Amino acid sequence: MAEPDPRLIELVMSLRKQGITDFKVLSAIERTPREVFVDAPFAHAAYDNTALPIACGQTISQPYVVAVSTEALDLDEKMRVLEIGTGSGYQASVLSRLCRRVYSVERHWSLHLDAGRRFKALKIDNISTRHGDGFLGWPEQAPFDRILFTAAVREIPDVVLEQLKPGGILVAPIGDVAGPDLESISQLLTKMIRTETGWKKEALIPVVFVPMLPGVPLEKRETHDGSEQR
Ligand code: SAH
Repeated sequence: MAEPDPRLIELVMSLRKQGITDFKVLSAIERTPREVFVDAPFAHAAYDNTALPIACGQTISQPYVVAVSTEALDLDEKMRVLEIGTGSGYQASVLSRLCRRVYSVERHWSLHLDAGRRFKALKIDNISTRHGDGFLGWPEQAPFDRILFTAAVREIPDVVLEQLKPGGILVAPIGDVAGPDLESISQLLTKMIRTETGWKKEALIPVVFVPMLPGVPLEKRETHDGSEQR
């Protein structure tokens, strides 16, 4: 295998300095060329440890936040993982290297389409994508071993909670979904473990994610994996 890009090695070193210790997570990030997921004008910043704008007014998350979320999910190669908010597809690609299959839902048709193209170009074949409303989860594929929200919610909808297996882990930015400015937004990346009797919650780090928005914009609806259209 070719040597990783030196910028990726540098990124991984900075993540280690920030406290990411899970070798498998660091290695998954090292094997995921982030420049493929950012738009051309931001290519120079692809390996900076910052969030960047993508199409449709959305953002590709900061690598540190991707690393914390992925580490918190405690994945293994047998797991099926639901991601809400495909966006650029970067987070899904990192997840795909650590589990059996990722199911990722995105409400913007063009983001959904571009992410699918990127997975194909990178020869990643264990991500199924769906154009739809992530507030509904992906009931036809449930239950999942893990669920990750990459857009902020005030609370996790019950229909999605029900799609997690007992013993499963859900990670989500929970808190404000609007505010007069970014600085005033308060969200916590939260880990929720489904126990036999209820939920155990743990706050991880403060974050600023774009909000989950209901429904899908009026665009064409389709899926990449041939599953049923809604
Ligand atoms: N995981 C992405 C970043 C996601 S940004 C990455 O790695 O690049 C949040 C994404 O959630 C945006 O693409 C936004 O369009 C999407 N989103 C917002 N509300 C949604 C909803 N109700 N259902 C599905 N996706 C949603």
